Amino acid sequence: MVKINYDACLYCGGCVGVCPVDAITLHEIRIEINEKCVDCGTCVEFCPVGALEG
Ligand code: SF4
Ligand code: SF4
Repeated sequence: MVKINYDACLYCGGCVGVCPVDAITLHEIRIEINEKCVDCGTCVEFCPVGALEG
């Protein structure tokens, strides 16, 4: 599963929209990735600040 670097994340919410299985959710103070993640790498490539690794 993808790891989130919370120090780098800007909470822009962009990665939420690119996940094909809706595994990313945006909350008031953080994003979360749930067990639906299939490690496709789309969000990792998308994030403009490299806050996702996996
Ligand atoms: S795209 Fe990157 S910076 Fe934006 S919410 Fe997702 S992890 Fe954070
Ligand atoms: S790696 Fe793919 S499935 Fe997992 S959270 Fe990112 S976009 Fe969604």
